[in-house]
Amino acid sequence: LVDAGRPEVVSVRPNEFRNVKPKILVKDGDTVQLGQPLFHDRNRPEVRFPSPAAGEVVEVRYGRRRVCQQIFIKVAASETAVEHKSWSPGDARKLNRAQLVEAMLDSGLWTSLRQRPFSVIADPEAVPEGIFIAASDNDPLPFDADLALDGREEDFQLGIDLLGKLTEGKVHLCHLRGGGKSRALSGATGCEKHSFSGPYPAGSIEAQIHYVLPYKKGRTVWYLDCQDVAALGEFFRTGAYPVTRVVAVGGEAAVERKHYRTRRGVSADFLQDGKGHLKRKRVVSGSVLGGGKKVTSTGGLGHYDNKFSILPEGDQPEFVGWMLPGFDKVSRFRAYASAPTATKPRSLNTNLGGGVRAHVATGIYEDVCALDILPAHLMKSVLAVDFEEMEALGLHDCAECGLCTFVCPSKIEFGDIIQSGIEEFLKEEEG
Ligand code: SF4
Repeated sequence: LVDAGRPEVVSVRPNEFRNVKPKILVKDGDTVQLGQPLFHDRNRPEVRFPSPAAGEVVEVRYGRRRVCQQIFIKVAASETAVEHKSWSPGDARKLNRAQLVEAMLDSGLWTSLRQRPFSVIADPEAVPEGIFIAASDNDPLPFDADLALDGREEDFQLGIDLLGKLTEGKVHLCHLRGGGKSRALSGATGCEKHSFSGPYPAGSIEAQIHYVLPYKKGRTVWYLDCQDVAALGEFFRTGAYPVTRVVAVGGEAAVERKHYRTRRGVSADFLQDGKGHLKRKRVVSGSVLGGGKKVTSTGGLGHYDNKFSILPEGDQPEFVGWMLPGFDKVSRFRAYASAPTATKPRSLNTNLGGGVRAHVATGIYEDVCALDILPAHLMKSVLAVDFEEMEALGLHDCAECGLCTFVCPSKIEFGDIIQSGIEEFLKEEEG
């Protein structure tokens, strides 16, 4: 774990939040304090998104149809923060639910809570059946929760105790078998601990929730990252919006593969020396299999992410590639000469290895899906905009793990289709 120092510029991406219509509150040249709201949700103005730094807003970048893509903030040499009320840990534990919700909304920390189904920001008026803490990761380039929580034991425990007031059920702490060894995780009390094992997505919180409290009509559960639990405790103890974040950088094209102690909104370029090492490399905020989070090397870390995955671009055509035996190719069907050594890790870039073709019913998606879902049928129900079928086929449970996209021999973007189904469903619910 390396201390990365202070970045010169940080950024936030207002368009990364599902079902949020951002109302931008700043413009180029404005000066902001750390923790000052940069935008809020038009439909729920009480849900605010705070600045991860104090300084000057150097650019509010808009894309097509004036949709705000990113807000860049130049970090001031001497930062001032919005001051909130602080409590001793004992007094914080005496707060009631309404006081907690109000303080979290006011500070912007509320945005760290998401709800299942559909992973939207939690509804402050709902009472969840349980709150899940994500402290595990076993995607191809994993993040180490034990490392991230080292030294934050008291804040983490305070965070758990406060979360317990927000639910009528239990707080669930989820980690992988063999993990959860840090003092913060092993010593945590006031929560039910769950240990998971198995290949990816066993470490994904969405899949874990499916196994503990699967979707049923009317059931709401909330979840958040373990670092946000510690941030919650820190906020109530100090009265300042916490911006410290441990971020993993991994992937074959990364210059240095390490965990960095840095802050929210940091760019991959800053963590990798800022010397243009990331040109012609694919920077993904979050999991390589999560989908839809490609960022530029100077783009900021996603609000819910704790890693950058950096891959070689696969934009070089392979001369008569279709004729080659494929000793180094990955194939779920074991269709290449690589089949005898298929279990060995091999180099992967962003090349799809083929063009989009008609869908063929092979059963491969059902093979890899870890949940009780039939991905091919689900995809068809989304394309037919059949809401009843989508629900019956498991849209609400889908962990959006990306495996069905990864193995698809027809190169169909299942992830995008599932996302569009979720968005349609949310629109339908809004009426
Ligand atoms: S349907 Fe696809 S994205 Fe959803 S859980 Fe199954 S494999 Fe993952």
